[in-house]
Amino acid sequence: MATVTPAVGIRAPSAWPLAIADPVESLTPIQHPSPNFGPRRDGLTPSLVVIHYTAMTSATAALDRLCDPVAEVSAHYLISRTGTLWQLVDEDMRAWHAGVGEWAGEGDINSRSIGIELDNTGAHPFPEPQMRQLERVLTQIQTRWAIPARGIIGHSDMAPGRKFDPGPKFDWPRLARQNLAMASSGQTAQDANWPSFRAAAHLAGFTAPCDNQTLLRAVRLRHRPHATGPLTAADFAALPSG
Ligand SMILES: [Zn+2]
Repeated sequence: MATVTPAVGIRAPSAWPLAIADPVESLTPIQHPSPNFGPRRDGLTPSLVVIHYTAMTSATAALDRLCDPVAEVSAHYLISRTGTLWQLVDEDMRAWHAGVGEWAGEGDINSRSIGIELDNTGAHPFPEPQMRQLERVLTQIQTRWAIPARGIIGHSDMAPGRKFDPGPKFDWPRLARQNLAMASSGQTAQDANWPSFRAAAHLAGFTAPCDNQTLLRAVRLRHRPHATGPLTAADFAALPSG
């Protein structure tokens, strides 16, 4: 058996200090426990992942708020713009991130989901290291809980008109290409009328009660973020097949 002699001056990987590891490459979250959680209700386990942006100026400010007992909000994970991953609540537990809403006919989204906050003001793009870390976390969660692509949604999907995150700058097609979200069906409608659109959106999961324009805005926010104007056949094509 040949013996490989390490080059002079290069230490074995095991001797490298963990602190300098690329945070994007590490999936060991920094534990930063929040007191804002409870048990999942009715024996529910995660079948959804809800993606958020923090709408705050820094990850530090978001960490403080998500761990403030007075704020009564939390999430399971927070990912910084450089890809640092914090875990605030155990996945077994019910974090307080979704609030009132509904997806695919089901309420109490907090009991059914894992919440991921992305450090983003809502006005700027999501940097590459943050997206890469999100993809890694999503892949692991999908495996751990057997969550399909259709179970990965945005906060605005389940709370139309009330929430708008992760917003129009979030790259859903990128996630869809990796089977980490649903892609548009491309199926055009014969007749682009409201009853048909409501039925198609309902099939795709948009079941939370709201008026037609609010529903259209929520669907576009997720699937046609730059679209404006009246309902068209393209809005049907943008929806995933049910
Ligand atoms: Zn949110």
